[in-house]
Amino acid sequence: MLTSTGKIIFALIILATFLAFMIPVYYRIRIIRAGLPTKRFSQLGKRLWQAFTKILFQRCTLKAERVLAGLMHVFIFYGALTFDTMTLNHTLEGFIPDFFLFGDGRIGLLFSFMVDVFAILVIVGVLYFAFRRFIIRLKAYATTWRDSAIIYIALTLVTLSYLYFEAFAIAHHEGHERWSFLGKQLAASVSGMGHEAIATHFMIAWWLHILLVFAFVAYVPHSKYFHMFAGSFNVLVNRDTPMGELPAMDIENSEVFGIEKSLDFSWKDLLDTFACMECGRCQDACPAFASDKPLSPKMIILNLKQHLLNSGQKHIAKQRDDLSPLMEGVFSEDEIWTCTTCGACMHVCPVEIEHIPKIVGIRQSQVLMESKFPGELNNFFRNMETNSNPWGIGFSDRSAWTDGLEVKLLSEHPDAEYLFWVGCAGSFDEEGKKISRALVTILHKAGVDFAILGTEEKCCGDSARRLGNEYLYQIQAAENLELFAKYQVKKIIAICPHGFNTFSHEYRGLLKVLPDLSPETTRAFEQIEVVHHTQLIFQLIQAGRLPLNATQALRMTYHDPCYLGRHNGIISEPREILAKLKGQFIELPNHKQHSFCCGAGGGLMWTEESLGKRINHMRTDEVITSQAETAVTSCPFCLTMLQDGLKDKEKPDIKVKDIAQIVAEALID
Ligand code: SF4
Ligand code: SF4
Repeated sequence: MLTSTGKIIFALIILATFLAFMIPVYYRIRIIRAGLPTKRFSQLGKRLWQAFTKILFQRCTLKAERVLAGLMHVFIFYGALTFDTMTLNHTLEGFIPDFFLFGDGRIGLLFSFMVDVFAILVIVGVLYFAFRRFIIRLKAYATTWRDSAIIYIALTLVTLSYLYFEAFAIAHHEGHERWSFLGKQLAASVSGMGHEAIATHFMIAWWLHILLVFAFVAYVPHSKYFHMFAGSFNVLVNRDTPMGELPAMDIENSEVFGIEKSLDFSWKDLLDTFACMECGRCQDACPAFASDKPLSPKMIILNLKQHLLNSGQKHIAKQRDDLSPLMEGVFSEDEIWTCTTCGACMHVCPVEIEHIPKIVGIRQSQVLMESKFPGELNNFFRNMETNSNPWGIGFSDRSAWTDGLEVKLLSEHPDAEYLFWVGCAGSFDEEGKKISRALVTILHKAGVDFAILGTEEKCCGDSARRLGNEYLYQIQAAENLELFAKYQVKKIIAICPHGFNTFSHEYRGLLKVLPDLSPETTRAFEQIEVVHHTQLIFQLIQAGRLPLNATQALRMTYHDPCYLGRHNGIISEPREILAKLKGQFIELPNHKQHSFCCGAGGGLMWTEESLGKRINHMRTDEVITSQAETAVTSCPFCLTMLQDGLKDKEKPDIKVKDIAQIVAEALID
């Protein structure tokens, strides 16, 4: 189609476009490669299949929070794939006259039809997103308006220029229309032009379209549209550990504790920043952002990306001393210390970006290297060090809650089937103690053989860990692990989702880095089965070991604790238990995996919530609006936060109970 000179010029343009694309991409790859190692290629076949199906069927964007936006993304995604194929065809057509990738058979006909369909759908998608960004001005999109405008204009121009080309290609070449229903109509409207004019327009349209496409290709690495590549790769190298599990720190062999500078991130953390599509779903789901705190998970990622691009050369050269600390200019203390680690951001992110390890990693460097943390945590850390509980109550009182109950210690009954891990709240907090007593009633009723550790029990370490004090966490954890080995514990019941999460996932990571653990301790822990009390109660009911009356609470709702529902997928068991009690059940607006945090996670139970609205008030408002008489939950921290919220809102009639209390009350004598 092109003359010899035209072909040379076109080849040079292709080379220039390739370089314009690859040079910034290579820069980003070098930034990512400077990160710390992390294993993300295990079971590669499975990973490839999962990533392929997730992206191909767009399960990443078609999530419940934004179904329509997801659908529009599907239009643009498949439109991009179709037009990318057409670009290849268009390019080859420059060198080979009348080239058509798919021939004149059925596939060719169908492809020509699909190109026109997606031309329409891409325009629909672009209009939808432009409307949301520029007319409605959603907060979630309140960044990078210029980049978005360039992308929307580029997509529109590329699509329209293709239709311009298609119209004149059909008018110029007989039989070229195939099943191009749009092209046929457009060609008919220009058929009155002279043959020469049509031929001229055909060449102009061909050059215009391909030059617009190439200009867009060169722009992509500089824009959020780069998520097409980095996001897809991010999905492939997604974590294979549960969302609630933080990586263990090898304190013995580390020189830097936590994340102080960009070089302390893993390469996956750095890849995350370039994978972000800036959709703002994480920000929409974040309780800290919703309660007017200065934390947006989206901005954590975007600010880090900007920092990486600005200091890229020093980062790539690993000039650690020349890199500025992240807490000077990139992140603020108010951002880092208002995250509840609820996981809503990670759950909704279409491209598997991991916000929590970054935030906790920065807390770790602040606590362990700088000794900088909210003042009220001084007490918390001291209490944990002296009495292994956040309240600082003498550890000799740990089993005082059992007064009047028949509860054996593991030291008296080492063959017990279950260790009932009572936890700090279940041992010392007045409301928590009621949960412990209710569970004891249930276990006795069902004939479960259990015992507790009593004064030997230490805090599981979850709060200390999420508050950045990995050292304190590992001390508590090591002592607990030795105890489990000493008593040859086989099964643990936890009433606190934080303890449940810590034992189920995080102690296993520690086994590899704690220096003084014996092989017996390690082996013993690997065999332990951990259950949350909602799971055990459900199993006991199913087995007919807990005969129940109907509940006295007529209208009930259920608050999913983040570390039970979202982080560990325990969603159906509590609902099935409540269904057996035959009360009226009302779901809260934010429920199951989309539950709204109570505000206590991430160790924030022990800090003052001085910025913005109170998160527990926002959740309590949902409970009040539901008109439930009783809000049921299955976490002692959530219970306290909801009770406090209802007290502040002067709603003493609405009760908050743990699921164990509701079941214990309904037991048939
Ligand atoms: S974990 Fe929760 S509080 Fe923290 S940034 Fe994510 S959504 Fe916000
Ligand atoms: S981090 Fe994920 S959810 Fe948040 S803006 Fe980026 S892509 Fe969207």
